[in-house]
Amino acid sequence: MQTETFHIGIVGFGPKGLYSFERLLAYLNHFKVETQVNIHLFNESSSFVAGWVYHKDQPEYLLMNYPNQFISLQPTSKPSAVCEVLSFSEWLSEKQKESIKELDPKVSSRKTVGAYLSFYFEKFCNCLPNNVSVYKHIASVEDIKQKGDDFKLKTSTNVKLPLLNSIVITTGHTPSIRSKEEFFNAPNNIPFVYPIEKKLSVVNPQSTAILKGIGLTAIDAILGLTEGKNGKFKQKSNNEYSYLKSGNEPKIIYPYSRSGIPIIPRGENALNYEQTSFFLKDFIASQNFKPHSLDFETDVLPIIKQDIVGEFYNTLFQLHNVSYRQYEDFNGLNIRIEKFHKEHPEIEKFEAENLLAPTLALNVASFKNVYEFWTFWCLENEKAKSPYVAAASAWRYLSKEFNLLYSQQKLTKKSKQLFQTKYFGLFNKISYGPPLVNIKKMLALIEANILDFSFSESPTISKNTISNSNQSSIYDWLIDARLPRGFSNSKSVLFNSENSAKLFTTTKFSNTTHELHCTATGHPISKDGEPLKSIVLYGTPTENILFDNDTLSRTHNDTVSGWAKNIANNLSVTTQLISS
Ligand SMILES: Cc1cc2nc3c(=O)[nH]c(=O)nc-3n(C[C@H](O)[C@H](O)[C@H](O)COP(=O)(O)OP(=O)(O)OC[C@H]3O[C@@H](n4cnc5c(N)ncnc54)[C@H](O)[C@@H]3O)c2cc1C
Repeated sequence: MQTETFHIGIVGFGPKGLYSFERLLAYLNHFKVETQVNIHLFNESSSFVAGWVYHKDQPEYLLMNYPNQFISLQPTSKPSAVCEVLSFSEWLSEKQKESIKELDPKVSSRKTVGAYLSFYFEKFCNCLPNNVSVYKHIASVEDIKQKGDDFKLKTSTNVKLPLLNSIVITTGHTPSIRSKEEFFNAPNNIPFVYPIEKKLSVVNPQSTAILKGIGLTAIDAILGLTEGKNGKFKQKSNNEYSYLKSGNEPKIIYPYSRSGIPIIPRGENALNYEQTSFFLKDFIASQNFKPHSLDFETDVLPIIKQDIVGEFYNTLFQLHNVSYRQYEDFNGLNIRIEKFHKEHPEIEKFEAENLLAPTLALNVASFKNVYEFWTFWCLENEKAKSPYVAAASAWRYLSKEFNLLYSQQKLTKKSKQLFQTKYFGLFNKISYGPPLVNIKKMLALIEANILDFSFSESPTISKNTISNSNQSSIYDWLIDARLPRGFSNSKSVLFNSENSAKLFTTTKFSNTTHELHCTATGHPISKDGEPLKSIVLYGTPTENILFDNDTLSRTHNDTVSGWAKNIANNLSVTTQLISS
């Protein structure tokens, strides 16, 4: 026997929209729900599942920033998916006839990952339970109005929709990108670089381009301005690259940022490391901290630095066959560090600042300028084991523990904001860098005198001039090669429209960005201070309380599995009650 139809909306259908869809199907199947369930998928472009990050039409040179072996759509907990799902390497192996072992450490293009996600979306749609129907809407959702327990959506196409009983919001970066302010409001500014080929097509040959940001997006943009304009990277015998100009690229590109410190690359050998230092873990386990009681810089950062130092020396000791115990306190480690350096005076002492603020430690480990900085990191990454790479990996392990402090609101409000504005980006730059090949391409562009870091640290920008205390240059194009976080309250379409503004509460995070209030399980907090249990946020919209959502990971900050389970469980109970 059937109850009336249950309507669910998934707003924003990138990778996390797909994960929500997959879990929903799996739980409906698992609980043998008989109610008719209609799932409405909303995406503002036709690129369902791949979104714009994994779009099928982007160039092949835009790469993932980690190897194939970490990409998988396979659910990590029960129930199983409604059909068999292969990991990315397994799926590629069937297509390319290469072994999984060969494919695992390789880095793929983002469009290939998009093809993988799209393949499984189609497959899930082909094995829907009989009582489930799917409706795809190519439309931007612009407003959400609460009507009793249900929700009415307004879309850009004004499609007629039923009232929705429950909604997942997985809109990714898009709202903030839409609302990004333009510098100087001038025609030679490119405020956002994606889609790369389209946005950078206006940059004329032999022009001077200045690029704001020296992170992952900047590398994409630099490749778009060179390889994307028919320049060729040639691999030399020693695994390095040279660059053959096409004449269509800019004459010179000046990247810059506040610190001037570029991103650190990650090579295949980064897979050889595992966590060996646990000071932050012990610190968190040792006490029951009160909410808003920890200052990030004075209470937490010193422990993070201890782990960075711990990872460095544990690897260095291994390389010198010095026995060590992993679980000693930091004083014990320090005593051994002193002893080690007395025995090995030729080895430079390492401090966490070498990694966090390398310009302050000029000449330590050759961090002299960007070329030497990147050459140094390429060489270290090519070693089977490097203490420097171990130290740079530390945040990848620590971020999981740190997420506990963050989501349980243990940081003071002020220091949480400082973490977001200053340290979040810094740690990402150190631990989540691009694949080695991209940095080798950057080195080739420096050698070809196209990429120039003369203005890299906090230059002064005026309408057509970039300058610092030593020099200045006229520029033709100002390209903002960064990804904004949060969303602008004044311009966001979805969260700030007439009715949505009555539903969601926000915190002003900076002059232009705001974050939504929500619970650690992703439910937005409404004006009356209560969580809206029928809506769940997943990914970027949860950044006020869950951090590090910029990932394809299925496990990290998964707010939808619990939501899908509750819906299916409740529907199965209703079905049983009605049939008995
Ligand atoms: C350039 C770039 C490279 C990256 N590389 C990696 C990487 O190598 N590895 C990694 O793990 N992560 C990477 N990321 C992080 C990336 O955010 C995640 O991998 C993933 O894309 C997050 O998925 P999502 O579904 O949350 O968001 P998105 O991928 O942003 O998808 C959101 C979707 O919602 C749609 N949408 C937004 N607003 C609305 C609306 N109002 N109505 C309807 N539809 C809407 C958008 O059009 C989009 O299709 C990268 C991110 C960027 C920007």
